[in-house]
Amino acid sequence: MNNPAQPRPGPDEIILTTPALGDRCSSLEHRRARLAAHVVVTLGPMGTADQHRQALWMEAWGQSYPMCQPCWQATRHVAASRRPSLVITGTIGSPAP
Ligand SMILES: [Zn+2]
Repeated sequence: MNNPAQPRPGPDEIILTTPALGDRCSSLEHRRARLAAHVVVTLGPMGTADQHRQALWMEAWGQSYPMCQPCWQATRHVAASRRPSLVITGTIGSPAP
């Protein structure tokens, strides 16, 4: 399905968008606990495939993951420490009640 609203982050860029109402955190444990997502995190290329030792989460590039606040904080911490030129864009709002 081609979704024109799908964000397309550039290299070392993370785009945040607001989750849809009812989205769950994509962590398996949190999905089981029915934890609501706080943000949708779309990862750009965190490195290059030919420098895979420095690259982060290659299988996740271009993918969007709903995350709860603690999962996003943990992800951001790892990304910021491994990718010094990391840029985080986008807006976070709460889903409509
Ligand atoms: Zn979570």
